[in-house]
Amino acid sequence: MAEAVIFLGPPGAGKGTQAKRLASEMGFKQLSTGDILRSHVARGTELGKLAKPIMDAGKLVPDEIILGLIGAELAAMPDPKVIFDGFPRTLAQAEALDRLLQEQHIRLLGVLLVTAPEDELVRRLLGRALEEGRSDDNEETIRARMTEYRQKTQPLVDYYKKTGSLKEINGLGKVDEVYQAIQEALGVRA
Ligand code: AMP
Repeated sequence: MAEAVIFLGPPGAGKGTQAKRLASEMGFKQLSTGDILRSHVARGTELGKLAKPIMDAGKLVPDEIILGLIGAELAAMPDPKVIFDGFPRTLAQAEALDRLLQEQHIRLLGVLLVTAPEDELVRRLLGRALEEGRSDDNEETIRARMTEYRQKTQPLVDYYKKTGSLKEINGLGKVDEVYQAIQEALGVRA
Protein backbone atom coordinates (compact mmCIF):
# COMPACT_ATOMS: atom_id res chain seq x y z
CA MET A 1 0.00 0.00 0.00
CA ALA A 2 1.32 3.44 -0.94
CA GLU A 3 2.09 5.52 2.15
CA ALA A 4 3.67 8.85 3.07
CA VAL A 5 4.97 10.76 6.08
CA ILE A 6 5.59 14.51 6.10
CA PHE A 7 8.28 16.24 8.14
CA LEU A 8 7.43 19.83 8.97
CA GLY A 9 9.42 22.29 11.05
CA PRO A 10 11.82 25.22 11.01
CA PRO A 11 15.37 25.05 9.65
CA GLY A 12 17.70 23.38 12.15
CA ALA A 13 15.00 21.33 13.91
CA GLY A 14 16.67 18.08 12.85
CA LYS A 15 14.13 17.02 10.19
CA GLY A 16 16.78 15.75 7.78
CA THR A 17 18.56 13.54 10.31
CA GLN A 18 15.31 12.05 11.61
CA ALA A 19 13.78 11.64 8.15
CA LYS A 20 16.85 9.75 6.89
CA ARG A 21 16.76 7.31 9.80
CA LEU A 22 13.01 6.77 9.64
CA ALA A 23 13.19 6.20 5.89
CA SER A 24 15.91 3.61 6.18
CA GLU A 25 14.24 1.76 9.07
CA MET A 26 10.78 1.76 7.46
CA GLY A 27 12.05 0.98 3.97
CA PHE A 28 10.70 4.29 2.68
CA LYS A 29 12.35 6.72 0.27
CA GLN A 30 13.34 10.06 1.78
CA LEU A 31 12.40 12.89 -0.56
CA SER A 32 14.20 16.06 0.52
CA THR A 33 13.50 18.93 -1.85
CA GLY A 34 16.51 20.74 -0.35
CA ASP A 35 18.81 17.78 -1.18
CA ILE A 36 17.38 17.52 -4.70
CA LEU A 37 17.94 21.25 -5.26
CA ARG A 38 21.50 21.10 -3.84
CA SER A 39 22.27 18.24 -6.22
CA HIS A 40 21.10 20.41 -9.14
CA VAL A 41 23.27 23.28 -7.90
CA ALA A 42 26.30 20.95 -7.58
CA ARG A 43 25.76 19.59 -11.11
CA GLY A 44 25.27 23.10 -12.51
CA THR A 45 21.95 22.27 -14.23
CA GLU A 46 19.64 25.03 -15.48
CA LEU A 47 17.44 24.45 -12.46
CA GLY A 48 20.48 24.60 -10.20
CA LYS A 49 21.53 27.94 -11.69
CA LEU A 50 18.06 29.32 -11.13
CA ALA A 51 17.74 27.96 -7.59
CA LYS A 52 21.18 28.84 -6.19
CA PRO A 53 20.73 32.61 -5.71
CA ILE A 54 17.29 32.04 -4.19
CA MET A 55 18.65 29.43 -1.75
CA ASP A 56 21.65 31.59 -0.87
CA ALA A 57 19.26 34.43 -0.06
CA GLY A 58 17.29 32.15 2.27
CA LYS A 59 14.12 32.51 0.18
CA LEU A 60 11.79 29.80 -1.04
CA VAL A 61 12.13 28.44 -4.58
CA PRO A 62 8.87 28.99 -6.60
CA ASP A 63 6.10 26.44 -6.01
CA GLU A 64 5.87 25.38 -9.70
CA ILE A 65 9.51 24.27 -9.66
CA ILE A 66 9.15 22.34 -6.42
CA LEU A 67 5.91 20.71 -7.57
CA GLY A 68 7.57 19.70 -10.84
CA LEU A 69 10.35 17.96 -8.90
CA ILE A 70 7.95 16.15 -6.57
CA GLY A 71 5.62 15.16 -9.42
CA ALA A 72 8.54 13.63 -11.34
CA GLU A 73 9.78 11.72 -8.29
CA LEU A 74 6.34 10.27 -7.51
CA ALA A 75 5.68 9.41 -11.15
CA ALA A 76 8.86 7.31 -11.14
CA MET A 77 7.62 5.18 -8.21
CA PRO A 78 5.12 2.41 -8.93
CA ASP A 79 4.12 1.97 -5.25
CA PRO A 80 5.32 5.08 -3.42
CA LYS A 81 6.45 4.83 0.19
CA VAL A 82 7.89 8.23 0.88
CA ILE A 83 9.05 10.53 3.63
CA PHE A 84 8.70 14.14 2.55
CA ASP A 85 11.43 16.21 4.17
CA GLY A 86 11.19 19.98 3.78
CA PHE A 87 8.11 19.70 1.57
CA PRO A 88 5.45 21.11 1.55
CA ARG A 89 6.57 24.58 2.66
CA THR A 90 3.69 26.73 1.42
CA LEU A 91 -0.09 26.41 1.43
CA ALA A 92 -0.09 26.02 -2.37
CA GLN A 93 2.38 23.13 -2.07
CA ALA A 94 0.28 21.49 0.67
CA GLU A 95 -2.88 21.72 -1.43
CA ALA A 96 -1.11 20.33 -4.48
CA LEU A 97 0.30 17.49 -2.38
CA ASP A 98 -3.19 16.66 -1.08
CA ARG A 99 -4.35 16.28 -4.67
CA LEU A 100 -1.35 14.10 -5.58
CA LEU A 101 -1.89 11.85 -2.56
CA GLN A 102 -5.56 11.46 -3.42
CA GLU A 103 -5.00 10.79 -7.12
CA GLN A 104 -2.29 8.22 -6.45
CA HIS A 105 -4.09 6.61 -3.49
CA ILE A 106 -1.24 7.34 -1.11
CA ARG A 107 -2.19 7.16 2.58
CA LEU A 108 -0.78 9.91 4.79
CA LEU A 109 0.50 8.25 7.99
CA GLY A 110 1.16 11.55 9.75
CA VAL A 111 2.64 15.02 9.65
CA LEU A 112 5.49 15.33 12.14
CA LEU A 113 6.05 18.87 13.37
CA VAL A 114 9.57 18.94 14.82
CA THR A 115 10.29 22.15 16.71
CA ALA A 116 12.83 23.78 19.01
CA PRO A 117 13.29 27.33 20.33
CA GLU A 118 14.69 29.75 17.73
CA ASP A 119 17.96 30.51 19.57
CA GLU A 120 18.70 26.76 19.63
CA LEU A 121 17.88 26.45 15.91
CA VAL A 122 20.25 29.30 15.03
CA ARG A 123 22.99 27.82 17.23
CA ARG A 124 22.66 24.44 15.45
CA LEU A 125 22.66 25.98 11.98
CA LEU A 126 25.77 28.02 12.72
CA GLY A 127 27.43 24.81 13.98
CA ARG A 128 26.41 23.01 10.79
CA ALA A 129 27.95 25.84 8.76
CA LEU A 130 31.34 24.89 10.20
CA GLU A 131 30.81 21.13 9.73
CA GLU A 132 29.16 20.93 6.31
CA GLY A 133 29.96 24.30 4.79
CA ARG A 134 26.46 24.79 3.40
CA SER A 135 26.43 28.16 1.67
CA ASP A 136 23.02 29.03 3.17
CA ASP A 137 24.10 28.42 6.78
CA ASN A 138 25.45 31.92 7.45
CA GLU A 139 23.83 34.27 9.94
CA GLU A 140 22.14 36.58 7.45
CA THR A 141 20.65 33.75 5.37
CA ILE A 142 19.59 31.88 8.49
CA ARG A 143 17.59 34.91 9.58
CA ALA A 144 15.90 35.09 6.16
CA ARG A 145 15.10 31.36 6.26
CA MET A 146 13.48 31.76 9.69
CA THR A 147 11.35 34.62 8.37
CA GLU A 148 10.28 32.58 5.33
CA TYR A 149 9.38 29.73 7.68
CA ARG A 150 7.30 31.95 9.95
CA GLN A 151 5.48 33.66 7.10
CA LYS A 152 4.97 30.86 4.57
CA THR A 153 5.40 27.49 6.25
CA GLN A 154 4.03 28.01 9.76
CA PRO A 155 0.45 28.34 8.42
CA LEU A 156 0.69 24.65 7.47
CA VAL A 157 0.64 23.79 11.17
CA ASP A 158 -3.00 24.88 11.36
CA TYR A 159 -3.73 23.34 7.97
CA TYR A 160 -2.66 19.89 9.16
CA LYS A 161 -4.11 20.37 12.65
CA LYS A 162 -7.52 20.73 11.05
CA THR A 163 -7.15 17.43 9.18
CA GLY A 164 -6.06 15.69 12.40
CA SER A 165 -2.76 14.51 10.87
CA LEU A 166 -0.42 16.73 12.92
CA LYS A 167 1.87 15.15 15.50
CA GLU A 168 4.01 17.53 17.52
CA ILE A 169 7.52 16.37 18.35
CA ASN A 170 9.90 18.15 20.71
CA GLY A 171 13.11 18.45 18.71
CA LEU A 172 15.17 19.66 21.64
CA GLY A 173 16.29 16.29 23.05
CA LYS A 174 19.03 13.91 21.94
CA VAL A 175 18.74 12.48 18.41
CA ASP A 176 17.72 9.06 19.82
CA GLU A 177 15.07 10.54 22.12
CA VAL A 178 13.55 12.57 19.30
CA TYR A 179 13.55 9.47 17.09
CA GLN A 180 11.75 7.48 19.78
CA ALA A 181 9.09 10.18 20.07
CA ILE A 182 8.61 10.05 16.30
CA GLN A 183 8.17 6.27 16.32
CA GLU A 184 5.65 6.54 19.13
CA ALA A 185 3.72 9.29 17.35
CA LEU A 186 3.48 7.15 14.22
CA GLY A 187 2.81 3.96 16.15
CA VAL A 188 5.70 2.17 14.44
CA ARG A 189 7.81 1.27 17.48
CA ALA A 190 9.12 -2.27 17.37
P1 AMP B 1 16.41 22.64 3.22
O1 AMP B 1 17.56 21.74 2.93
O2 AMP B 1 15.11 21.87 3.33
O3 AMP B 1 16.66 23.53 4.41
O4 AMP B 1 16.23 23.61 1.97
C1 AMP B 1 17.25 24.49 1.56
C2 AMP B 1 16.69 25.56 0.65
O5 AMP B 1 16.13 24.95 -0.53
C3 AMP B 1 15.55 26.38 1.23
O6 AMP B 1 16.01 27.47 2.02
C4 AMP B 1 14.83 26.86 -0.03
O7 AMP B 1 15.55 27.89 -0.67
C5 AMP B 1 14.94 25.62 -0.93
N1 AMP B 1 13.80 24.69 -0.73
C6 AMP B 1 13.85 23.41 -0.25
N2 AMP B 1 12.64 22.86 -0.21
C7 AMP B 1 11.77 23.81 -0.67
C8 AMP B 1 10.36 23.84 -0.85
N3 AMP B 1 9.57 22.77 -0.55
N4 AMP B 1 9.82 24.98 -1.34
C9 AMP B 1 10.57 26.05 -1.66
N5 AMP B 1 11.90 26.09 -1.50
C10 AMP B 1 12.51 24.97 -1.01
